[in-house]
Amino acid sequence: MRMFDQIDHIGIAVEDLEKSLDQWRKMFNLRLHGIEEIKERGVKLAHLEVSEGPQVELISPLDKNSPVHKFLQKRGEGLHHVCFEVEDIHKALSTFQNKGVESIQDKPQKGAQGSLISFIHPRYFNGVLIELKQKKKES
Ligand code: ZN
Repeated sequence: MRMFDQIDHIGIAVEDLEKSLDQWRKMFNLRLHGIEEIKERGVKLAHLEVSEGPQVELISPLDKNSPVHKFLQKRGEGLHHVCFEVEDIHKALSTFQNKGVESIQDKPQKGAQGSLISFIHPRYFNGVLIELKQKKKES
């Protein structure tokens, strides 16, 4: 199996989650998979299911300390990140590190739905922030 098999979701930074959610759902007829607050990262997320391919993740800041708040100030609403699903996030990160590509945080962090995630700085990928995600293991 290759390491980066699929794009899990596209993250879009928004000012007003409820309002944006309405528009995205209505126009694309998407099913809301869930809304989740991740206090550690200062974000509120909404996952919208597309019948095939990557999901759409709308992200809004919980407060002014949120990195997403800073992103919105600097760049405005829009594409925030692209997320690749990986089998083993530690292995994926060491593969990146061996090629001189560093993640933003030292260690993987808690992501949505019990996943483990890590972000790679946009400077390595043409200005696009990359998220790596290891799904919660079923046990
Ligand atoms: Zn994401």
